[in-house]
Amino acid sequence: MTHEPQTNADARRFAGAVYDDANAEIGTNAAGERVVRIDLTYGRGTGAVEYTLIVALDAAIALRNHLDAAFAAAGVDDEPGADVDPEDACPNCGERRQDLLVWFENADQVQCESCGHVYAPRRAAKTAGEPRSEPRSW
Ligand SMILES: [Zn+2]
Repeated sequence: MTHEPQTNADARRFAGAVYDDANAEIGTNAAGERVVRIDLTYGRGTGAVEYTLIVALDAAIALRNHLDAAFAAAGVDDEPGADVDPEDACPNCGERRQDLLVWFENADQVQCESCGHVYAPRRAAKTAGEPRSEPRSW
């Protein structure tokens, strides 16, 4: 059995425990800094192992951008959402990615998953927050 040299180098570079679940939250630490807590779970062994990273907000944004670029380059992103119009961006943080601007199921407004802000885009300006039987979509 032979392997391409490149494959061996790649396998060595990416060797290690494979954490197969992840969650992230934004919060404030004891020093008053806004930070991102990233919880990773390794569930392949006999018991789940968790690993937590606390990352500066700027580092987390850099990480997101690196991941977005890596996924795009590798073609593994499952339908990266389109951007909403600039006028519909989150007024708090400027987020424009549709998949992170989520319409409420039962109210006419959007929650930004990047910063948690709730707002009404243009098309909901007149009915913001009113009950709905079905969520809107972008
Ligand atoms: Zn936002």
